[in-house]
Amino acid sequence: MTEKARTRYAPSPTGRPHIGNIRTAVFSYLLAKHTGGDFLLRIEDTDRKRYVEGSLEAIEDSLRWLGLDWDEGPGIGGPYEPYLQSERLELYLKYATQLVAEGKAYYSYDRERTEEERKAAEKNPQVSLSFSRRWRESTEEERQAAIADGIKPVIRFKVPLEGVTTVPDIVVNPPIVQNSSLSDLVLLKSDGFPTYHLAHIVDDHLMKITHVIRGQEWLPSAALHVLLYQALGWEMPVMVHPPVILNPPGVKGKLSKRESAVYVGQYRELGYLPEALLNYLVLLGWSYDDKTELFSKEELVEKFDLNRIQPTPAKYSVEKLDWLNAYYINHKLTREEFAQRSLPFLAEAGLITQDEVADLGERLGFIVRVCGLVKDKVKILSEVPGEIDFMFKPASELEYPAQDLVGKNESKAATAKILAASIDYLAKLPDEKFTTAGIAEGLSQLSADLELKNRGLLFWPVRIAMCGRKNSPDASAMIETYGREAALDHLRVACEKLG
Ligand code: GLU
Repeated sequence: MTEKARTRYAPSPTGRPHIGNIRTAVFSYLLAKHTGGDFLLRIEDTDRKRYVEGSLEAIEDSLRWLGLDWDEGPGIGGPYEPYLQSERLELYLKYATQLVAEGKAYYSYDRERTEEERKAAEKNPQVSLSFSRRWRESTEEERQAAIADGIKPVIRFKVPLEGVTTVPDIVVNPPIVQNSSLSDLVLLKSDGFPTYHLAHIVDDHLMKITHVIRGQEWLPSAALHVLLYQALGWEMPVMVHPPVILNPPGVKGKLSKRESAVYVGQYRELGYLPEALLNYLVLLGWSYDDKTELFSKEELVEKFDLNRIQPTPAKYSVEKLDWLNAYYINHKLTREEFAQRSLPFLAEAGLITQDEVADLGERLGFIVRVCGLVKDKVKILSEVPGEIDFMFKPASELEYPAQDLVGKNESKAATAKILAASIDYLAKLPDEKFTTAGIAEGLSQLSADLELKNRGLLFWPVRIAMCGRKNSPDASAMIETYGREAALDHLRVACEKLG
């Protein structure tokens, strides 16, 4: 048995979680669960300027919706609480000052740079480096002068000026970095808040995190993190930087709602199933055997393995996600489950009430049958209402031109006759035959009895009569779903339209 992993998702509350970002939570969760370990949620809220109201709720909702429940973290607590960094400031101060006392960090009385200095630093990395090291060796006199000027110091890390640092990563080729190229990183800001660099290391260590899975945007500063671990004398967790996502959602030209979704909440609003999205996110950078693509959460927990995270970039594709979602809708949900999941969307479209979302009462059977009409057709749940809204209207309210009822090379009069015959036939069809299969069989027989050239000459007008549109579910299924009375009403209205 592999050792139990302790992993964490450590988002900053800077807005709603992005799909690319939450992927690291998926990997972290699966690794923890695969090894029987724990998955933590830690909120990295030390950058007060970037804080966005409501982010914490959005993060928690997104994780819960995807089924990524955390074992320790906000709302739950745990042995290493608090799990909000803003409530852990004294810890960061403790380790920053400890490093100062050990001569591994120092107070830096940074003053605002002039425009010229800023430009010079931008142009030349050497200038930038020497700015960062300005207070590395300072005299007591200089320090006192700065204090007298009212400058509040930051604490900077004294990065070794010689040697090289290798970033140990199990996915990407470990970058090897010349220490002399690294600037003296700020660990603690003048307002007493730590930077990400110090805070995440302190927390990962104290929270006994075994594996850090995070975005590749952190790779450039990873060498500094290695040096900081060394300075603190702590063992480093296993580092994992999953591949970047190519063609990420929401970035190219003119986009549909589906193509421009980037936040987990948006996928939910569009009607992607959480289990399908979870499955899709895992495939962005991980594979089991190069051919299996469908995995339930349980299967993922069983099979997930860090060794199969790919070093090459993953390619986002909304078509693939839609395919997967449609597959889950059609093959993994029962008709009842599909209807249940569609309810919020039906309510949103005004087809049912909010009260009915909670309890459909006697309408349950009807709604299940109605949704069942399009279960094999829709890709996302938000498509459901538009596909079946006609089922909620009386026949008299369906708007369509009479000509739509008339098939190719047919006449209005002949079509009216066919519909009249269908009315007679369905009115008499025994109850036990009033099923989709029974109706289909009966109407086929009727078309033969009427000596029609093909069944379509009957099914076409019947289908249009049921829904008033050319693209629709199966005619017999609609008839069964309406029930005899409503179905006959629809056929009568159609007959009247034809005069
Ligand atoms: N707060 C960082 C972020 O949201 C966390 C990175 C990490 O996982 O260490 O990018």
